[in-house]
Amino acid sequence: MDGEAHSVEVAVVGGGPAGLTAAVALAAAGVETALISKTPPPDNRTTALWSASVAAMEALEVWPLCRDNSAPLTAIRLIDDTRRLIRAPEVTFEASEIGLAAFGHNIANRHLIAALDRRAAGLPSLTRIEAAVTAIEPDDTGVTIRLDNGAAIEARLVVGADGRKSLCRQAAGIATDRRDYPQSALTLNLAHARPHNGISTEFHTESGPFTLVPLPGLRSSLVCVTEPDEAEQLAALEAVALSAEIERRAHSILGKMEVEDGRGLFPLGLEIARSFAARRIALTGEAAHVIPPIGAQGLNLGLRDVATISELVVEAKRDGRDAGGDDLLARYDRMRRADVTGRTVAVDMLNRSLLSDFLPVQASRGLGLYLIDRIAPLRRALMREGVEPADQPRLMRGEAL
Ligand SMILES: Cc1cc2nc3c(=O)[nH]c(=O)nc-3n(C[C@H](O)[C@H](O)[C@H](O)COP(=O)(O)OP(=O)(O)OC[C@H]3O[C@@H](n4cnc5c(N)ncnc54)[C@H](O)[C@@H]3O)c2cc1C
Repeated sequence: MDGEAHSVEVAVVGGGPAGLTAAVALAAAGVETALISKTPPPDNRTTALWSASVAAMEALEVWPLCRDNSAPLTAIRLIDDTRRLIRAPEVTFEASEIGLAAFGHNIANRHLIAALDRRAAGLPSLTRIEAAVTAIEPDDTGVTIRLDNGAAIEARLVVGADGRKSLCRQAAGIATDRRDYPQSALTLNLAHARPHNGISTEFHTESGPFTLVPLPGLRSSLVCVTEPDEAEQLAALEAVALSAEIERRAHSILGKMEVEDGRGLFPLGLEIARSFAARRIALTGEAAHVIPPIGAQGLNLGLRDVATISELVVEAKRDGRDAGGDDLLARYDRMRRADVTGRTVAVDMLNRSLLSDFLPVQASRGLGLYLIDRIAPLRRALMREGVEPADQPRLMRGEAL
């Protein structure tokens, strides 16, 4: 390693929600941490954080800093809006059925990031470095991280939270499995005349889900998944025309709509790293897995990555073990594999079942939703697994590290 570089135990690369949460979790537990990030572009999206993720934000003392900007999600309604021969029944899941006040909370990413930034600023074990990482060089004893300002950082472990085009993943020599979907997501926030009453509504259309998720007051966020050309045409409409079109697609359930400034377009795909850790580098968030925004699983999975690696590092520090050692990395990979694979398969199957014109596929989707609607224990098991999966790391159970 480079003898003159600034030295820490863990270097987190990437200051999106996953990287910031990792840096806060590690530094709050007393691990000497450096967070290296470039200023991210403005993000107008919102995130539905399921209850375990909210519990983690509470345990990290972040939630009180942003709770007022979030809206509780008390019910989720799925509506088959296809014009196919076999249509699924409408299903509504209520959080109260599993003893929760809310399944989770929807919050604008910028409010979540601002709260994480504020919490990070109060942690003496955290050094923030505003720079881009240009190279990562692991060896037997540690990792040297080279920055575009000419400086270098040394660490025992790198937490790679540098998103889809991860340099950390490349430096670890990890390949991915990738599939592009014939769909894009148009995202925006809007105001509406009627209250949402905490209900998130997902219309299933032939080209993908059209989902309205509550925001505080008479506002919601929209994720409209459709064919790429159509998404582009919608995104190019004047505000008045787009508002009217969205209201039409939403069957006016929330009354008159008015879209706000700031639209996003995201091509949809699936990309999963073949391993989540190697060569003193552990991948988290979208550096490890990109999944389509269906069922709001992406960042919730990313936060479980972060909670898991942070817990393993704190344990290793307590026992005097190497935080970047092969054993720890292999354990991390094993602990994250089933969760990521399971969610990916579920999201992929749901999406394909919407796109498929094959009658038996339509029939199975309809039957599946019918059974979920009618069989209470199955409904409850599914709801629990969606928001508070089994075998969660400590932070996701609301416990400090
Ligand atoms: C339309 C849409 C809706 C979504 N809705 C939900 C939802 O409701 N619930 C949910 O759980 N998930 C949702 N997701 C998924 C969620 O948005 C992502 O999982 C999350 O934003 C990924 O965060 P991240 O921190 O891993 O990556 P990013 O936010 O991409 O952050 C990566 C950071 O690394 C930095 N970086 C990259 N390279 C370098 C480098 N070399 N040096 C320094 N810094 C670097 C970048 O500047 C960036 O700041 C949605 C996704 C989409 C597309």
